[in-house]
Amino acid sequence: MTDSRSKLPSVNVLLEAAEAGGLMDRIPRAVVTASIREVLSTARDSRSDEPADGWLHEVENHARDWRRTSLQKVINATGVILHTNLGRAPVSGPAKQAVLASLEYSTLELNIETGRRGSRQSHLKRLLRNITGAEDALVTVNAASALLLAINTVASDHETVISRGELVEIGGSFRLPDIISKSTSQLVEIGTTNRTHAKDYTGAITERTRCLLKVHRSNFVQKGFVADVEIADLTDLAPANVVVIHDVGSGLLLDLAEFGLTGEPMVQTSVQAGATTIFSGDKLLGGPQAGIIVGATDVLEKIAANPMARAVRPDKSTIAALEATLSAYLDRTTALKEIPVLAMLTADTEEISVRAQRLAESIPGATTLPGFSSVGGGSFPESPLPTTLVAISPESCEKMMTRLRAHSPPIIARVLDDRVVFDVRTMTESEIGVVATACS
Ligand SMILES: *Cc1c(COP(=O)(O)O)cnc(C)c1O
Repeated sequence: MTDSRSKLPSVNVLLEAAEAGGLMDRIPRAVVTASIREVLSTARDSRSDEPADGWLHEVENHARDWRRTSLQKVINATGVILHTNLGRAPVSGPAKQAVLASLEYSTLELNIETGRRGSRQSHLKRLLRNITGAEDALVTVNAASALLLAINTVASDHETVISRGELVEIGGSFRLPDIISKSTSQLVEIGTTNRTHAKDYTGAITERTRCLLKVHRSNFVQKGFVADVEIADLTDLAPANVVVIHDVGSGLLLDLAEFGLTGEPMVQTSVQAGATTIFSGDKLLGGPQAGIIVGATDVLEKIAANPMARAVRPDKSTIAALEATLSAYLDRTTALKEIPVLAMLTADTEEISVRAQRLAESIPGATTLPGFSSVGGGSFPESPLPTTLVAISPESCEKMMTRLRAHSPPIIARVLDDRVVFDVRTMTESEIGVVATACS
C-alpha cells in the first residue's frame, strides 16, 4: 500500500507556484500561506491526492473563505433578553433604518437651518431633556467612559466619596475603584459592606470633596440587615460645591411596575433629585451601545468642555440608532411595542405559550414545559420571567448545540436537565420558523 502523504507538495513549492501564478498580487501573503497550510493539512488528514482543479485553485478557494465576516446575526433562543455575549439589546426597526441612513452623507454636524456647523450631540439633547426631565445631556460611547469622564471633570485631584456597599465589579472588568483611580480622583470609602448611613457621608465630606458617587449594584442584591442612602437624601446633604453622580446602570425610562418588574432605579427619579445621572444605551433602554449623562446645565457644560469628551464621543451610527430609539419613548404605547427589549420584557405569557406550542408542533418529538426567561445585563436580577420552553431530547445535547451553532444563521439555545431548550420570548416570528425548519 502506498502512502498518499508522500505525494503532497511542500508548503514552499506551493508558495512559489502561488507567487508565479500572481496570487500574491491580489491576496495578502500571510493569507495565502495560511491557506496553503490548511489545504495541505486537510489533504493529509483525508489522505487525498491533488484536487481535480489543482492545488492553487484549492488554495484560492480557501483564501476566499477568509472574506466571510465573523461578526454575524444569530438567533437568540436562550430567553436571556440582554445577553452580553450576543450584543445586549437588539435595536428597533426604525433604529436600524436610521443607522443605514446615517452611513451616507448626513446632517451629523450641520445645522440644516443656518447651513453652519452644528453639534452631533444636538440630535439627542432635546429628546433626552424631554424624556428624563433633565436640563442638559451628553452622550458617550458607553457608560464606563461616561462615568470616567464625569468623575474626571468634577473631582480630578480631589475626593470622591462612595459607600463600601457600592464599590462593585459589574462584569467585563468594570470595577469602581479602578474607574475612580483612572479618573485621577481620590477614592474615599465610607460605611460598611452592608450598611451605609447619611451620617457616614456628612462625616466624610471635607474641603477636598468634589463628588458623592452612588452606583446601582446591578447584577446582585443585598438582603437582610442592610441600609443605604436614597439618592434624594444624598443630593440634600451634599454641599453646593459637591456634585452627586448616580450611575443607575440600566437606563430604565418607563415604570414597568404594572408588569411586576420593580427594583431597578428609574432615570427620572435621580434627575428629579438633582443628581448627575449616568446610564447605558444598550441595556433596558433598548438602544445601541452608548453612555448617557443627564443633569444640570452647569455640570454638563463642564463635562462637555473636558478634552477627554472628544476621546469618548459617539459615532454617527450610535447617534442615529439612539435618536430613533429615544423618539419611541415620546409615546409609552409605541415604546412598549416598538423597542424589542421592552416588548420582550412585557410579553404576554399566554401569547408566549401559544407561540411555543406552535414551534413544538413543528419539531418531531418536541415538548413544551414551563420555565423562566431572564432579563440579563445585570438588570432586574431578581425578576425571572415565567415562560414556556420548547424542549428536545437529542442523543447528545453537546452535539446538537454544536449543530445549531453551525446553522446559518447560528441558533443559540440552552441546555436544561439533559435537554436542549428554546425560549420563544427572545425570538421573532420568522426566527421561530427558521428554528422549526432547522430542527425538523
Ligand atoms: C452595565 C453597567 C455599567 C457599564 O455600562 P457600559 O455601557 O457597558 O459601559 C456601569 N455601571 C452600572 C451600574 C452598570 O450596570
